[in-house]
Amino acid sequence: MKIKDFFSPNYNKNKRSKGSIKTIVIHYTGMQSERETLNKLCDSKSRVSCHYLINRNGKIFRLVKDKNIAWHAGKSCWSKYRNLNKNSIGIELVNRGHQFGYTNYTSKQILQLIVLCRLLIKKYKISKRNIVGHSDIAPSRKIDPGEKFPWQLLSKNKIGIWHNLNNSLLKKFRKKQLKKKRDKIQFIKDINSIGYCVKFYSNKNVLKKVIKGFQRHFRKDLINGLLDLECVIIASNLAKKL
Ligand SMILES: [Zn+2]
Repeated sequence: MKIKDFFSPNYNKNKRSKGSIKTIVIHYTGMQSERETLNKLCDSKSRVSCHYLINRNGKIFRLVKDKNIAWHAGKSCWSKYRNLNKNSIGIELVNRGHQFGYTNYTSKQILQLIVLCRLLIKKYKISKRNIVGHSDIAPSRKIDPGEKFPWQLLSKNKIGIWHNLNNSLLKKFRKKQLKKKRDKIQFIKDINSIGYCVKFYSNKNVLKKVIKGFQRHFRKDLINGLLDLECVIIASNLAKKL
């Protein structure tokens, strides 16, 4: 795999051990152009970076070495990890994002991402459930890589998790209200076991954003932040497979 080395100064001075790399965090760049993005990620004033950037043609740039802690995740939480920069590899995909005209990722981009992820998974023994989007680890602040990101396709390549439920069957439970409070409690337990950091007693708005994050990842046709039976069933299926 061809990787073009670039240099971003935006990383911690102290190196990390190989064993501290536990997750891969996927982002979109959310900017007008690739050039603008590279300039920003390599500008010491911006204080943001990532390890890899994949452009629309599938070209991979390395901005920060794996052994260095790049600044891409910010305040975040996943499973037992807090503020994930130190525990993650950050990959940015060039896409204008919701603010500037969100488009599909290109197939070249996704193909290269798959190759890169496979390599990293093998090298650092990253578990499937720890391949996440920025919106999964910081749902109150972030919505990238967004609902156009092909999580299901990635899972077919053993990258990340996906359910094994029949879609047309699932649809029957869409917008169906929960019958019992117990369903909500079970849903929170299930998504906690996947990695989402939320509590049953979390603030209503926080909970809504986490549900939206979950939907953006696992139920992209309807992202409303409302918990329905379809979400409960998906979460239960995912949790059982772990
Ligand atoms: Zn991001």
